[in-house]
Amino acid sequence: MRPDNPNFRPCAIYHHRQWTNQPAVHVGHDAVGEGWGPILDELDHQFVMATGIGTDNHRKIEVLQIKEKFGGLRVYVNATQLTGAERIRVIEAIDRAEEKSFQTCEKCGSTEGVETRANKNGRFSRVVTLCQEHHEERDNLLPGQRLDLGNGNTIV
Ligand SMILES: [Zn+2]
Repeated sequence: MRPDNPNFRPCAIYHHRQWTNQPAVHVGHDAVGEGWGPILDELDHQFVMATGIGTDNHRKIEVLQIKEKFGGLRVYVNATQLTGAERIRVIEAIDRAEEKSFQTCEKCGSTEGVETRANKNGRFSRVVTLCQEHHEERDNLLPGQRLDLGNGNTIV
């Protein structure tokens, strides 16, 4: 659901993105690429499912940080206001989202030929998860160039 939908009720991740002034895909200090946007949208939906559809309980989830680490998505939340059962469902949803990120190109969202690795010639130390096309684009960067992850967030 989107803000132009009259039934839209902002979820935790949406709030976090608004707070960082990046409504489409989270970017900034703790940034991820455009390709993982749908994973975050799905996670927002899962937060609602985990805390009760038709309630505002999902607003009790405080999203602290969204970032990439070792090629995978990381989502950190404060869920101490939830019940134990709700908290377990939220943590399971985050686990699934993080697992899915390892099968999804962080730039384009493709799930074909996705691989988690540093670059081919070892020039870059950071491990990222990309499709073959975007690993190639990264491998062919010239010194000083950065790979745009589709939303203005860049990596080397
Ligand atoms: Zn890609």
